[in-house]
Amino acid sequence: MRAAPRTTALLAGLAAIVSLAGHAGPAATWLPWLRRAWFPSLAGIGRPGHVALTFDDGPDPASTPLFLDALDALGVRATFFVLGESACRHPRLTRQIRDRGHEVAVHGWTHDRPWVPGVRHDMRDVRRAAAAVSDLTGAAPRWYRPPYGILTGGRRVAAARAGLKPVLWSAWGQDWTAGATAASVHATIARDLAAGGTVLLHDTDRSARGRWQAALGALPALIGDCQASGWTVGPLEEHWS
Ligand SMILES: [Zn+2]
Repeated sequence: MRAAPRTTALLAGLAAIVSLAGHAGPAATWLPWLRRAWFPSLAGIGRPGHVALTFDDGPDPASTPLFLDALDALGVRATFFVLGESACRHPRLTRQIRDRGHEVAVHGWTHDRPWVPGVRHDMRDVRRAAAAVSDLTGAAPRWYRPPYGILTGGRRVAAARAGLKPVLWSAWGQDWTAGATAASVHATIARDLAAGGTVLLHDTDRSARGRWQAALGALPALIGDCQASGWTVGPLEEHWS
């Protein structure tokens, strides 16, 4: 028996709604307060006494080496969520991040927005980036942070298939904004910084030029705050152990 055209259209509409809900529903975890309250592991809430320091969007030969130098000077290690495309364009720098004691994790192959569901695309993107990190650093990545922090259903599946755990953040510096300064980045992080938190900064620019200097300049005060509170600062690989 064939379904009436109206019934068929209704079912197609429902299927589309369910598909979009599966795609966009998990992305609601982008909301920081919701994430911290309901998904503490996804928000990067780890053991008390430790703060995870993370950088997104690199590697960039114009700025990443300066972050490595600054972290050396401060005696701090961190996790760098790299783009596969950039990592392959700068293989020596990617290896250098690892060789200098930091952790390299996956931010995707390219920095795109997931406007429409595309599980196959997501799986290819994440798998390709994870393979690049493994090949370049000799260490299998453990973490995945989706571009823009938008964790769709497809990206969640892609991370699981690649053996990666999604981790967003609990405090950020809004260092990408045009008016960002070292002082503003430090003050913005301080609002949400707490024991066991994960801090998001960027070691390169995607929007306003030179904003990475604001993130770089904020590092000494940020590390100083953590140390004054008795918290150790380190990479995600030490955040739950
Ligand atoms: Zn990013």
